[in-house]
Amino acid sequence: MNTLHVELAERRYPIHIGPGLLSQPQLLEPLRGRPLFVITDEHVKPLYLERLCASLGSDPARALALAPGETAKTLANVNEVMGLLLRARLPRDGVLVALGGGVIGDLVGFCAAIYQRGIDFVQVPTTLLAQVDSSVGGKTGVNHELGKNMIGAFHQPQLVLADTDTLKTLPRRELLAGLAEVIKYGMLGDLQFLNWIEENLDALLKLDGEALSYAIRRSCEMKAAIVAQDERETVSGGAGPRATLNLGHTFAHAIETYTRYTEWLHGEAVATGLCMAADLSARLGWMAQADAQRCIALIARAGLPVKPPAGLDAAQFRNLMGLDKKNVSGRLRLVLMKPLGQSLVSSNFDQAALDACFT
Ligand code: NAD
Ligand code: MG
Repeated sequence: MNTLHVELAERRYPIHIGPGLLSQPQLLEPLRGRPLFVITDEHVKPLYLERLCASLGSDPARALALAPGETAKTLANVNEVMGLLLRARLPRDGVLVALGGGVIGDLVGFCAAIYQRGIDFVQVPTTLLAQVDSSVGGKTGVNHELGKNMIGAFHQPQLVLADTDTLKTLPRRELLAGLAEVIKYGMLGDLQFLNWIEENLDALLKLDGEALSYAIRRSCEMKAAIVAQDERETVSGGAGPRATLNLGHTFAHAIETYTRYTEWLHGEAVATGLCMAADLSARLGWMAQADAQRCIALIARAGLPVKPPAGLDAAQFRNLMGLDKKNVSGRLRLVLMKPLGQSLVSSNFDQAALDACFT
């Protein structure tokens, strides 16, 4: 097992990573005796709820399973959770436990942020995406019909328990989508880690516990370090360190919007976005062509898409980007690399080079 401590301005909390952690009650010792509720989804409930409750020493009846998927991230479900907690009179020293992927983590974190003005919560992420991304950083929230993640709060967990064994039941596509975010960390800030991913891709794809634990640990470490410099994404008007975590994401959002959030998983769109960011960085002369090819080859080898959908051209892209919240005063800002392994936020790039990325 690996334990990483996230250092925040006001406190620190541990992220435990490794196989079999759901069956290690001592890791949940800080919660013992405290009144708690577990919130999960209907896919995850039959797989892991009983095991987690046994380790928590809590009654599995004090749990709620929501319908799975992004459509669960609503204020209506927040209201349902609030009703449950109020009826059960969960006190202010009670704890909410999020068992599931990023959808459950975001929703439960938000519920914990607002129930009686804020209670403690614990993340038990069960998707690779949640283990390397959404469970770190303190962003919580739900969607509104007018925008994704538009209602939320910053609220940090007390503890994160990432059991790599849970990834064994995760659908393959979901696993690969999470891997795109892992590759992103290497490209945006750690060339050595990118080399390691290239060398260990087969082990990761075979769900080797040691390889997964290292990849998750390094990803969380990088995200935590970046978040610590910019806890609320306010440094340099949103173009500071935290924005670099959005490498590939502006392209990804265009792909997701273009395909109406139905055909591509977020991580799949990020994979293509990373290829496009590498391609553009190389066209601008900021990164060696060979390095861009190397990234694209790695992403392809991971079984992830490397090209935007047919029909999404540069004009469409610009059009769609008019709606992107990362634009400030109408200028398109992209996270790019200069060189590979170092990211920067720039709105100062040649339009022709951008257009060429869509051909
Ligand atoms: P998800 O929570 O919908 O999980 C994906 C699917 O896998 C679901 O059907 C789920 O039921 C199922 N599942 C989960 N764990 C499983 C397991 N171990 N075995 C079998 N099936 C399992 O999606 P996700 O990709 O984990 O998270 C996406 C969400 O995360 C989005 O809403 C996104 O906005 C959010 N997110 C938040 C942050 C943040 O900083 N807060 C960062 C990135 C993404
Ligand atoms: Mg992402």
